[in-house]
Amino acid sequence: MNPVLSTLRRGLLVSALAATPMLAQAVTQAGATNDVLASHIDHSVDPGVDFFSYANGAWLKAHPIPASESQWGIGQEVQNELYADLRKISEAAAKAHAPAGSDQQKIGDFWSTAMNQGLADKLGLAPLQDELARIDAAHDLASVLDAGFALQPLGVDVLFSAGVYQDEKASDRMAVHLSQGGLGLPDQSYYFNKEAGVAKVRQAYVQHLQKLFQLQGVSAADADARATKVMAFETALAGVSRPLEALRDPQKNYNLLTPAEMTRKYTPAIDWQVRLAAWKLAPDQLNVGQPDFFAGLQKLLASTPVPVLQDYLRLHLVDAYSSFLGQRFDDEHFDFYGKVLTGQQQQRPRWKRVLRAENQTLGMILGRIYVKDYFPAASKARYNAMVEAIRTAYAARIRKLDWMSPETKAKAEAKLAAITKKVGYPDHWKDYSSLQIGRESYAQNVMAGRRWEFADMVSKFGKPVDRSEWDMTPQTYNAYYNPSNNEIVLPAAQFMIPGFKDDQLDDAVVYGYAAASTIGHEMTHGFDDEGRQFDAQGNLKDWWTAQDASRFQARAQVMVNQFNAYQPLPGLHINGQASLGENIADFGGILLGLDAFKQTAEYKAGKPVAGLMPLQRFFLGYALGWLSQEREGLLRQGLLSDVHAPAKWRVNGPMSNIPDFYKAFNVKPGQPMWRPAAQRVKIW
Ligand SMILES: [Zn+2]
Repeated sequence: MNPVLSTLRRGLLVSALAATPMLAQAVTQAGATNDVLASHIDHSVDPGVDFFSYANGAWLKAHPIPASESQWGIGQEVQNELYADLRKISEAAAKAHAPAGSDQQKIGDFWSTAMNQGLADKLGLAPLQDELARIDAAHDLASVLDAGFALQPLGVDVLFSAGVYQDEKASDRMAVHLSQGGLGLPDQSYYFNKEAGVAKVRQAYVQHLQKLFQLQGVSAADADARATKVMAFETALAGVSRPLEALRDPQKNYNLLTPAEMTRKYTPAIDWQVRLAAWKLAPDQLNVGQPDFFAGLQKLLASTPVPVLQDYLRLHLVDAYSSFLGQRFDDEHFDFYGKVLTGQQQQRPRWKRVLRAENQTLGMILGRIYVKDYFPAASKARYNAMVEAIRTAYAARIRKLDWMSPETKAKAEAKLAAITKKVGYPDHWKDYSSLQIGRESYAQNVMAGRRWEFADMVSKFGKPVDRSEWDMTPQTYNAYYNPSNNEIVLPAAQFMIPGFKDDQLDDAVVYGYAAASTIGHEMTHGFDDEGRQFDAQGNLKDWWTAQDASRFQARAQVMVNQFNAYQPLPGLHINGQASLGENIADFGGILLGLDAFKQTAEYKAGKPVAGLMPLQRFFLGYALGWLSQEREGLLRQGLLSDVHAPAKWRVNGPMSNIPDFYKAFNVKPGQPMWRPAAQRVKIW
């Protein structure tokens, strides 16, 4: 995905779409009230001490993380129901003998081939044999690069990352982007961070690489030596990679070079004109995110023995496809990426893992089937109207700001008015007719899907920008702001609350859950520390007066300091700079949702529902969006590699700056959720 997009949550839990009885049933069985908010409250916690645990605690205690999961919460509940329905569709398609090339044939063949564990075991590494042979045959740097460039279209992350998406400074132009990449661990900090848990992960990663060698027939002693060398190569690559927070500066990550310049100045070993031509790309210019990374890569390529580079490519290829190969590879991949990294104790059942892959390969095909049943026109109308209510609230807030000049305000309002919205599902569905899915092997089908995605991406180069495209499927439990289109994209699944139909939810819940935590959040991304640098047309172009910009930065710094102070794991703080955009978006989202909620009849009537006042329900509705708990490994991974703070702090962090929240829950000075007025964040 285009790294410039600001998503609502990290992309680990991908898909969900259902309106189902899961949460409500759990509540009824426990004998508690049937109210979606009241039933989740843990009354043993004071909301002024820890609002997240107060709001969600009862539910979280009643729903421990299953052994087969690394996190559990509202997203997984909706995902579970989606999977149950997807399974029925897939099983029916597998039996249907639908015409070749039809959507049903693709779904059916993907499903039945993937479910055939015996076939995968029998095939072993055979589905990868062409690529492995190319790597084996390499004998010099040029042929190693041949193999490396052939892996990119298969979705194997080696050496660097490449993508075709809009030019940050000319949003009507598709551009070829090159950026840092090629690491097997989730972030460059994993290679250096001294925290004990990270050190253990590093050690386990080398063991994992050893085992991957052994699974390919290499002796234990040899595997040990070769794994150590690959780790040294990756560590050096990590050493020339920018840290997470540095990737969020769009100016510093924007560098235009001709392919010839790029070769001459940074990577003499890579003739970009020739290499890109092999991908059917002939750009005049390259958008290079991190030239310093490529300079470092050049040095590494020149100094690393060819056999080590071959091993590096080989391991990344096998790791990228292990989940679709036989049991031994699948298990080894899970042992590291599941158990060690995220703390998950056992694999999910095969059918769920297959559906995850199916959803990644055929996502829009499945989405088209789904939205018919799960996102009625009334829902689309409700959330379209809610976007406009949030926009109105935002405009009013901008006009009232005491720190921004009239000049910048006028431009901010113009940008706000220009934000486009995509709600529910795409107006036009992508044509997948050229994607071929068969019954030869699971891995080959995944490979075909990835090749298709890559070809589709490459084909956009040189054509007019299609601003109607979606970067997420409608069944994704997530949302995003795309600065290049100045648009918010809100997939249907994001609005679902398991156990409740949309028309059963009172406005307080919906304004907290959807208007604040999602719509307001995404809209605020247009004006966070990164998004504010893009103009109404989606171009990276400064429209702020110098004084307004420095005032914004001073206010944002308060937020940075607040989050830097949080320490979710001993020795690991939240990265306040890396998570700044998300934290501003959460904070702004709550304020905008609140302003809009105050216009509703429910707020004005001021009557309690299930014993909760409207304002209380609004804040609890926001916390419902972050109803989730995770294992230590996944928490660590998020802290090091994700721009989103962990769920608990996405609730407690912004809330601790909001006077209406204090009022709603009688938060008193001196309590952890209370901050003196002078220490509160005040931006939007
Ligand atoms: Zn976000």
